[in-house]
Formats: sequence, structure tokens, C-alpha cells
Amino acid sequence: MQYKKITLPANKSIALVAHDNKKPDIIRWCEKHQSDLAHHKLYATGTTGTVINAATGLEIERLISGPLGGDQQVGSLITEGKVDFLIFFWDPFEPMPHDPDVKALLRIAAVWNIPVACNPISADFMVASPLFNSEFERNVPDYEGYMKARATIK
Ligand code: PGA
Repeated sequence: MQYKKITLPANKSIALVAHDNKKPDIIRWCEKHQSDLAHHKLYATGTTGTVINAATGLEIERLISGPLGGDQQVGSLITEGKVDFLIFFWDPFEPMPHDPDVKALLRIAAVWNIPVACNPISADFMVASPLFNSEFERNVPDYEGYMKARATIK
């Protein structure tokens, strides 16, 4: 895979997703970092967005609920370059009906090289980084180069 550099902007687009047993964690985390989060564009899967908005008043663009396709919507936004930061508190103790979507979202976040936090302590470290509110270069797959290479496949 060839990569190219793009700029991760100072004002980020952050997707927030939490499984049901982790919703108290993401609410607490958003309350703790409310003023930091307010500078960024926020997306969330349906229920996660609803409970965070109710607790904090943060403006959040709500997608479909995770089990109905919300995780896949987040993945799609990542591939379109519209989400560049993922806070995903998934539950390591409960199998989910949408486990394939969970795996797919984590995979696509790795493909597009975006920062991902899967628990509050990682998310705390990320918010504390000076990079959280500044630009940063990141490597992403070079789609044109990728397609040129594909064009040679017979
Ligand atoms: P929810 O979805 O925010 O609608 O609960 C999260 C998930 O389970 O992926």
C-alpha cells in the first residue's frame, strides 16, 4: 500500500461510540472534557449521542443506532475523510449482535490511520496531548496510486 500525507486539522471531527455497559463511562468522559470537545465537530451513534447530549448539552450529529448500522456509518465517514478521530468504548465482556460491524469499524480506523481510544484512560491521554488542538500530518492510503496499481491486474 502506498501512502500520502494529509493534514489532520486543528478542529477535528470526532466520532463517539459506546456500548451500553460503557455509556456511563463515555458520559463521564464527555462531562470531564466538555470544554475541549466543544471546539470540535462531534458525531455519535444514535443512543450514545442522545445520552451524551442529555448529560452535557454538547451539539452532536447523531447517526443511526449502532446495531442498526451506525458503526458502519461511522466507518463510511472515516473513508470519506469526514471523521478523523474515534472514541469507541466497546464492551470486552459482552458479545454483540453487531460484532462484525464493531470489527469492521476498528479495521477501517486502522486502514485510514486515525487516532482511536477504546477506553477512558486512552481518551484522557489523547485529549491531554498538545496535538489534540493542533494540526498534525498523517499518512493515509494513496487511493489514486492504489487504483493505478489495480489497473495492471488482468
Ligand atoms: P448506540 O450504538 O450508540 O446506538 O447504542 C452503539 C453501538 O452499540 O455500536
